[in-house]
Amino acid sequence: MSLLEVENLTTYYKLKEGYVRACENVNLKLEKGEALGLVGESASGKTTAALSLVKLLPDNAEVRAGKISIEGRDISRAMEDELRRIRWKEIAIIFQGAMNALNPVRRVGDQIVEALRIHEKMPEKEACLRTAELFEQVEIDPDRVREYPHEFSGGMRQRVMIAMAVACNPKIVIGDEPTTALDVMVQAQVLQLLEKLRRELQMGMILITHDLSVVGETCDRVAVMYAGRIVETGPTEKVFENPAHPYTRALIAAFPNIEGKRYLAQSIPGNPPNLLNPPAGCRFHERCSQIIGPCSEKDPTAVEVSTGHMASCHLLGRL
Ligand code: ATP
Ligand code: SF4
Ligand code: MG
Repeated sequence: MSLLEVENLTTYYKLKEGYVRACENVNLKLEKGEALGLVGESASGKTTAALSLVKLLPDNAEVRAGKISIEGRDISRAMEDELRRIRWKEIAIIFQGAMNALNPVRRVGDQIVEALRIHEKMPEKEACLRTAELFEQVEIDPDRVREYPHEFSGGMRQRVMIAMAVACNPKIVIGDEPTTALDVMVQAQVLQLLEKLRRELQMGMILITHDLSVVGETCDRVAVMYAGRIVETGPTEKVFENPAHPYTRALIAAFPNIEGKRYLAQSIPGNPPNLLNPPAGCRFHERCSQIIGPCSEKDPTAVEVSTGHMASCHLLGRL
């Protein structure tokens, strides 16, 4: 039984013009203590997929289908009360600009204490001790619990958000570009911290990022998303060394230095399709240099390229 199993997750956004098919038939698996990188160009549906897991979606979103199980327990039909519990104790999310979500007029430590009192029903004294312990875990001097957010740097505020995310010992942490708003040095430190916590607390982690080198360095497996669909998934090494889907190959080619230090990604020629009216067949076909007969008509199904390495492309059935 996997820690997290997502089957056929489908979420659309309703607009006047119709439905934006942002996340379609997404399947994901995450094991205990494992890190999964979720990558893909902007607007490919990464955030939508992550938010759909805990139903933190905008009002115009509709989760059309999908089964989400944590350790075998189906949470797809959980109601708001249960979802609130799940968001603290089972799947916590750290957002890109999360540090700006701290209340500017309340002491930083008090905000964590309050969360522990509400969600863990901890008495005040115990919650204060736990907050100091959490500060230590995220490498901030516990004496600073009485300070206000403006006295903290961006990196420290993001560490506080990480402390808040792990406060109730969630089984899974999702980082949605958790370091993008920080400068490069601080990004590396915050990522190292996340990695340390994942190992210490044996959490599963889904890391959404544009930075393939971060995935190469920290993630056991990777899932590549394009235009609302997962097109390839597998152990990071296999996918990066032997990408099976033309889109993954293009993504890797646009990111020339996976093993070295950070590079700015170049763009892949062409644009992703408009998800209000996506093309029939393979959604990559308008940009694919290897297009063949069925590509513009028929959805490719996932094929196992090697153990645990799947990709959805018509070329694969022909090899
Ligand atoms: P990025 O890398 O830029 O964060 P992403 O992969 O996280 O992108 P999403 O934010 O999930 O992508 O967006 C997927 C698609 O859904 C995009 O086409 C986006 O424009 C659309 N979308 C997102 N939120 C809404 C909304 N509230 N209403 C309508 N469309 C939306
Ligand atoms: Fe290219 Fe066809 Fe494969 Fe899509 S299914 S990636 S269009 S070859
Ligand atoms: Mg996003």
